[in-house]
Amino acid sequence: MQWETVIGLEVHVQLATRSKIFSGASTAFGAEPNTQACAVDLGLPGVLPVLNEQAVAMAVQFGLAVHAEIPEVSVFDRKNYFYPDLPKGYQTSQMYHPIVGAGDVEITLDDNTTKRIRIHHAHLEEDAGKSLHEDFHGMTGIDLNRAGTPLLEIVSEPDMRSAKEAAAYLKAIHSIVTYLGISDGNMAEGSMRCDVNVSVRPKGQEAFGTRAEIKNVNSFRFVERAIAFEVERQIELIEDGGKVVQETRLFDPERDETRSMRTKEEANDYRYFPCPDLLPVVLDQAYLDHLRSQLPELPADKRARFQNELGLSAYDANVLSASREMAEFFEEVHRVCGDAKQAANWVQGELSGALNRENLSIQNSPVSAQQLGELIRRVLDDTINGKAAKQVFQALWNGQGESADAVIEAKGLKQVTDTGAIEAMIDQVIAESPAQVAQYRDSEPEKRGKMIGYFVGQVMKASRGTANPQQVNGLLKEKLDALL
Ligand code: ADP
Ligand code: MG
Repeated sequence: MQWETVIGLEVHVQLATRSKIFSGASTAFGAEPNTQACAVDLGLPGVLPVLNEQAVAMAVQFGLAVHAEIPEVSVFDRKNYFYPDLPKGYQTSQMYHPIVGAGDVEITLDDNTTKRIRIHHAHLEEDAGKSLHEDFHGMTGIDLNRAGTPLLEIVSEPDMRSAKEAAAYLKAIHSIVTYLGISDGNMAEGSMRCDVNVSVRPKGQEAFGTRAEIKNVNSFRFVERAIAFEVERQIELIEDGGKVVQETRLFDPERDETRSMRTKEEANDYRYFPCPDLLPVVLDQAYLDHLRSQLPELPADKRARFQNELGLSAYDANVLSASREMAEFFEEVHRVCGDAKQAANWVQGELSGALNRENLSIQNSPVSAQQLGELIRRVLDDTINGKAAKQVFQALWNGQGESADAVIEAKGLKQVTDTGAIEAMIDQVIAESPAQVAQYRDSEPEKRGKMIGYFVGQVMKASRGTANPQQVNGLLKEKLDALL
């Protein structure tokens, strides 16, 4: 039997507001436990929530970025349940009238093909506190700092058909929210987490199978692994005559498996009702137009422009538009050097390699975009050759010079293109290598091309890497062939 996987994601994005969604308490990460939850976050008697306007603006910006309908009216509801990290006894969320309606996102797969994933809706809600199980033997600690932090929950349609597509979707959402600057997207700190809904069905069958929901997966890699495990579990279960039950499961990255947490609750278990403390949110057209006019160029548009206007390959365009920082760095390098292909090669090659080796992000690159652009310009105008360029890059990386020109000057790396000077070096190398010259002379003509490498290396060395390699090649061949 052939099986098809069906996946829908609910992504929780922590919005980068300075204060909470309904109070003035700080949202800063890493504070001492329970120092950043105020009376409103705890739902103490007599307090009233006030909606954070910034959170509304951020949610709407997201909606506009994914081509969503933005309804004129949205409403906050109470989702009632008991848990120690929720002292209010309910989470303020949006059940029936979310702030963002249906939209879609373009994802890019490994083979650079794209696919549209529909978004069902996105709604605003508050985060709960955090239970701390380590460090408290036989007890659980509760940190309420996170209570009331604004979240945007983005709910996809079940449009993904593989773990790879799910990871690509999560990456696309990550790109969009970080381009917009509405979230720091820091998955390790929990700024983006997702619930993964997975089901399988026989290939060709239209009706969806019963799904399991894997809660709180917090990395791209874990999403893929959790799905891979879950798909296998469900197929085995069905093939052995069993049935998938709709339930909530937990992914355990250490054991690489999912485990049942609880059977799925129904919406009416939560006794949703409109929050009497908050007014409906009403957005007018002028407000939407204003926010639309503030949108930055988004990843999909950038990718298309890099391909269509700058002539980059689909692969290059994809890599360079994946993060806003990367895209801006590349664009600055391109602006300075004027050659998109070279800029793309250097940013993805030498620069990314060095950043990866030292585990640095591009924002912390020791070589600035301006410096790299000027370096490439010196390769393009033949001031230096490719080999010297790498030396200049290293020197800039190590802080041994303010600019490419300064390094070229200080290290004497200017390319030697003076034919006389190159010829003199060649003559010297030939004079000092009688054995290799004899070998060259005695070898078959078609093998000589290969042997020339030895001489090129010696001449380049004699010039301390500064001779123009094409000239060296051409002149050497002439001189050696003259000896035949
Ligand atoms: P709930 O309200 O119980 O969380 P929803 O119908 O809102 O359920 O769906 C939640 C998520 O589950 C959505 O992202 C949706 O795309 C996904 N989903 C729904 N049905 C399936 C299915 N059969 N297989 C995989 N994902 C599904
Ligand atoms: Mg759900």
